[in-house]
Amino acid sequence: MDKIDLLLHARWIIPVEPAGVLEQHCVAVHQGRIVALLPGAEAETRYRAAETLHLPDHALIPGLINAHTHAAMSLLRGLADDLPLMEWLNQHIWPAETARASPEFVHDGTELAIAEMLRGGVTCFNDMYYFPDETARVAARCGMRANVGLIVLDFPTAWASNADEYLHKGIALHDALRDEPLLSVSFAPHAPYTVSDAPLRKIVTYAEELNLQIHMHVHETADEVRQGLEKYGTRPLQRLKELGLLSPSLMAVHMTQLTDEEIAQVAQSGAHVLHCPESNLKLASGFCPVARLIQAGVNVAIGTDGAASNNELDMFAVRLGAIETQPLYDPVSQLVYAAGRHQVTDVWVAGQRLLHERKLTTLDEQAVLARALEWRDKIRT
Ligand SMILES: [Zn+2]
Repeated sequence: MDKIDLLLHARWIIPVEPAGVLEQHCVAVHQGRIVALLPGAEAETRYRAAETLHLPDHALIPGLINAHTHAAMSLLRGLADDLPLMEWLNQHIWPAETARASPEFVHDGTELAIAEMLRGGVTCFNDMYYFPDETARVAARCGMRANVGLIVLDFPTAWASNADEYLHKGIALHDALRDEPLLSVSFAPHAPYTVSDAPLRKIVTYAEELNLQIHMHVHETADEVRQGLEKYGTRPLQRLKELGLLSPSLMAVHMTQLTDEEIAQVAQSGAHVLHCPESNLKLASGFCPVARLIQAGVNVAIGTDGAASNNELDMFAVRLGAIETQPLYDPVSQLVYAAGRHQVTDVWVAGQRLLHERKLTTLDEQAVLARALEWRDKIRT
């Protein structure tokens, strides 16, 4: 018998790929990796595990990936609601960030976001925010996977004073995180209306050299497209194409304004679309044509966006014995259409149990809450 760290028996296991539901199966984990997925009875004869756990009315699924968020913005949740994007940014979010964004703000906001995401079954997030070094530090300490965005803007913030400084700090962070097993980075030019041509050209070159993805808000609103036409004489997506950004390296967030021709171009380029339906609805930005994109062959992933525009970091949810998910005919149907994140009981990342019967193991819940309250009082004044 092989000695391993952990055997997880579950009523249902839904691997997603390949599609299908496995009943009374078992996941075998050793040294942070899944080493086998096999029938429970067979596992008992093949492995001797240091820990064996039975999840009798649970569905075990891969960790959810929040494909687009600004984790630290959790501290701004509910600060300004029911406004269109530019008014929300210009009059509420950017002033609050200018006054408050600091390493401490990003540290505490990211802890709050990670606590929320783990309690909702999210094990990996794709982030874009100032002080990405803090985001990376917190994620690594909590045992959470993250792709940390190396943010770039034309204008100064507390993190950097111009596009070149954002780029230099970003590349330094890329080098510093090389050996972090759960972290990766990508370039994150904020949006076509906040980053000019020269830094975008540099980003294309550096991304090719360093083999990094580019994470950017694109065609979020009709207003953005109109402004792009006014300023540059082309629609933003066309401008990005001319600058060399439209490629398999691009992760384009939102994409609510797309012509048929643009959908075909995105499909042909191999770029990815990160769809944030709740943020788009809340800011009344428009609808991403997800069905048409998928039909055209585009890879579409789902994100929450920041908690200030959603207002939750909920990908959905996973214990299925509860009232809300009974009677159960098909566990996949219950997961997709009925289960809520409050039904997530346990979460593992790289073999480490980060949520234990809804208790966080790498974060002090009371301390996270206390600091969120402190920030509310500071931000309100
Ligand atoms: Zn966003």
